[in-house]
Amino acid sequence: MKRCIQYFGILITLGLLFTSCQKDENFDSAEVEIQDDSTQHSIVHRNCGLDHYKSLLETDPELREKHEEKIRKFEKYEAHHIEDRAACSNPVTLPIAVHFQGVSSPNVSCLRSLAQSQIDVLNQDYAGTNSDISQWNNLSSHFPGISNGEACIQFALATKNHPTGFGISDGDPAVTINKTNGDTNSSWSGYINIFVQANTGVLGYSPLGGAGNGDGVVIDANAFGLGSGCGSIAPQSPYNLGRTLTHELGHYLLLDHIWGNGCNSDDGVTDTPDQGSEYYDCPNIGVSSCGSKDMFMNYMDYVNDNCMYMFSAGQVTRMENYVNSNLQNVISKAATVLGGTSTGGGTTGGGSTDDDSNDPVCASPSSTSVGNIKTTSATVSWTTSPNAVNYRIRYKKQGTNSWTVRNSTNTTYNIGGLQAATTYVYQVRTRCPEGWKPYTTAKTFTTKSAGNTNGGGTTGGGSSTTTVKLKLVLDYYGSETSWELVKAANYQTVSTGGPYSDGAPGQVINKTWNLADNNYILFVDDSYGDGICCDYGSGSIKILDGDNNVVASSDGNFGTYDYLEFEVNDGTVTFKNEEKDEKSAFIQKKEEGRVSN
Ligand SMILES: [Zn+2]
Repeated sequence: MKRCIQYFGILITLGLLFTSCQKDENFDSAEVEIQDDSTQHSIVHRNCGLDHYKSLLETDPELREKHEEKIRKFEKYEAHHIEDRAACSNPVTLPIAVHFQGVSSPNVSCLRSLAQSQIDVLNQDYAGTNSDISQWNNLSSHFPGISNGEACIQFALATKNHPTGFGISDGDPAVTINKTNGDTNSSWSGYINIFVQANTGVLGYSPLGGAGNGDGVVIDANAFGLGSGCGSIAPQSPYNLGRTLTHELGHYLLLDHIWGNGCNSDDGVTDTPDQGSEYYDCPNIGVSSCGSKDMFMNYMDYVNDNCMYMFSAGQVTRMENYVNSNLQNVISKAATVLGGTSTGGGTTGGGSTDDDSNDPVCASPSSTSVGNIKTTSATVSWTTSPNAVNYRIRYKKQGTNSWTVRNSTNTTYNIGGLQAATTYVYQVRTRCPEGWKPYTTAKTFTTKSAGNTNGGGTTGGGSSTTTVKLKLVLDYYGSETSWELVKAANYQTVSTGGPYSDGAPGQVINKTWNLADNNYILFVDDSYGDGICCDYGSGSIKILDGDNNVVASSDGNFGTYDYLEFEVNDGTVTFKNEEKDEKSAFIQKKEEGRVSN
């Protein structure tokens, strides 16, 4: 059975039945699906809380809408971080609160220790430092090309700034006893909550993709933590190694069961083999249901605690991407509720941090620069990194999505084949012995105009210029945003900016121009095509005159391009027109104008 199991039928004493299912001697009989619903005995239909959640998604439009929103955020994040996963050197630690419910005569210190024993299991299982990972290490011939995953995620019981009304003092772990009911509590928003309940009828359940809004995971009182337990809250074999929570938390971080819906049905993770259905107990290595060998030892299967011991690398990446895309509120909460000493550091695989403190650290270049800019070429240089295997540079025309990628063993690269008077974006990353490091912050350069040796193209105007200001507010994905100011008559470039860094929604970009009398168009480009508002922050665009009066503005709610036209005439700035990207003729004209400049 396992993890999330549900009982249907005539259950006169649900609690009794469930307890009995935890015991080895009754376990096999409980696994038999009894066809006759009229029997007085355990009518058990093997099922899972996740299936129930999925069926709710089909019938509850509001829940489905929220779920689709999570998936959209997740997929966008995933698309942006497709090959950027570096080795984990600084794991994100998520705050946990454990809520014991319905405990008679509770032993507080025992329950706190039990909660900590469960957190320790989580941290080992997620980092791949569990002792039984050695079993996986012997299986490589059965699963060629598949690695186990080591998540850059850790968990810790919160220790300070607890919500009031739960009887926990500063410095004590976030463990409540008989203070909550059910499976959500909005006072504990920003935490991942673990609700430990007796006789739930399931080993555990979780939303598929949690929200950190007071929701969490339910675990049965007989499947939580390690050791002999505390009265009625006591783990029972074969679910006494704390892995029910490892599994359920996988659901909370958007992992499906490893079998998905059977052969030819994906679990959303590319490196997990196809599998027909769930496994129970402890199968033999090599069992196969869809042509390939089944990865039943995965935490997202239904086997016994002592027969599951790994996530795949793809599952771990999926969870990390989910945390980064959907659980920023939980990440932020950590800063205020986790103590300084109990979190972070220590346990996770950061590779080679303290083997030898004299070893120089391989990293991405600390800075990059561009020189020798000509009409069709430019030379990018970057600082050297110790122990680098080689470097990779990528570049693209600003406002486009298609990168050109080149590798180099030197710390300079001469880019040829460029277009004149065109702005390009570039980044560099280092390949270290353990893998690729993240790209450097994106920077830009603009090639020279043909027949214009000073290159810039910025309008001068002597004494007759007018001050005009741009105030651009970014959303989360600043790397998608760039802008270009052109003359309306011939689309000649006057000024450009961006792209910017990711991860700073609300960041304000201020720019001041001194413009000669003319009509101008400001194009703001979003390379992903989803504007700068409103899913990932409330970006916006304003054009102001020298006295800071708003002349033109946009709510940032556009697709690929926003277009603001204004007139500068003898010290006065006047709004003319705003168009969003349905006006593709403007874009085409702009592109043509750029090329013919
Ligand atoms: Zn499950």
